[in-house]
Amino acid sequence: MQSYKIALLAGDGIGPEVMKQAVKVLKAVEARNPDVNFELNPALFGAVAYFETGKSFPQETKDICDQADAILKGTIGLNHEDSQKIPVDEQPERGALLPLRRRYNTYANFRPVYLPKELSHFSPLKAEIIGDGIDIMIIRELVGGLYFGHKETGVDEQGRRFVREVLEYDEDQIRNILKVGFETAQKRKKVLHNIHKSNVLKSSVLWNTIVDELAPSYPDVEVKHILVDAAATLLCLNPGQFDVMVMENMFGDILSDQGGGILGSLGLMPSACVGPEKSYYEPSHGSAPDIAGKNIANPYSMIGSVALMLEMSFGMESESKHLWNAMKSVFAQGYGTPDLAKGDDAKLIDTDKFGDLVVAELN
Ligand code: ATP
Ligand code: MG
Repeated sequence: MQSYKIALLAGDGIGPEVMKQAVKVLKAVEARNPDVNFELNPALFGAVAYFETGKSFPQETKDICDQADAILKGTIGLNHEDSQKIPVDEQPERGALLPLRRRYNTYANFRPVYLPKELSHFSPLKAEIIGDGIDIMIIRELVGGLYFGHKETGVDEQGRRFVREVLEYDEDQIRNILKVGFETAQKRKKVLHNIHKSNVLKSSVLWNTIVDELAPSYPDVEVKHILVDAAATLLCLNPGQFDVMVMENMFGDILSDQGGGILGSLGLMPSACVGPEKSYYEPSHGSAPDIAGKNIANPYSMIGSVALMLEMSFGMESESKHLWNAMKSVFAQGYGTPDLAKGDDAKLIDTDKFGDLVVAELN
């Protein structure tokens, strides 16, 4: 019997609704594999944890995560108004999410931007732009850069408020994520798009230098350098030219949401956050407070994150494929949550129903 401990951090907003579907799917996968056991350990994380315990990442949750083989996270965060009720340092992103990433050094964030040709009607892009479908792997550095650098606010000699936020990387951090980029390119189409802004940022100059230093070790990979702003345009105009794209933290945050945009919904964006010893899995999107509690969120990003966990943390490749196919099959039958199901012949379903249909496909 193979047993895996999974920490479940449902979080805020639509987090609990999409996590419920992930749990259904995990139970279905378990039922299909009599020699596999998932021990599911729910824990408080985010604003919900703050309101219950005074901490957005409480010690008990840290303990559960420490003991887990993998962590499955929903979404965290409140709308702007409600988040003002929480002290700055305990707000979900600063108090829970960044500390989670730091705790397990989950530096490699894989964000697949994937839409097979049969589902290209979900995308706002024209069919001739999509061609054979969209299949890009965004690799985002997740524990460095502007989000983790030195931060300072104050008042200068002239009495003006100022803020300082530092974009910091050391060469080891850059090398580690670039290696992930090269290795992923080797496993895919052997083309690596390096996203940078070296005409303005010194951090990109060092980044590109390390790309050049590493490139000879990966002679089978063709490196293409592209400025981040140009990449944003080309993602819309010609996404087919991209396969693996590697970039620093903030560029990755922004371009991967754009990835959700070209697919047609942030609900189509699962992700894996991989560290040397432990990884966690989460939808790329936020807690979507505007649709929370209505049972209309698209749980694909969450269930896709389960599929990534099965493959990357538990080596259950065929179960992972089976799960992707189950979701694809539900969509191919015309079903969709409101973010996707548009037009007269669309079969509109809710969050729970999507989970049920995926489970039915799995069985
Ligand atoms: P964060 O900063 O945490 O990434 P965000 O500001 O980018 O959050 P999201 O919470 O991701 O915002 O939501 C952006 C928009 O996308 C919202 O209108 C939201 O309803 C929609 N959205 C996000 N996730 C989903 C989903 N799973 N299903 C349907 N719509 C979604
Ligand atoms: Mg976002």
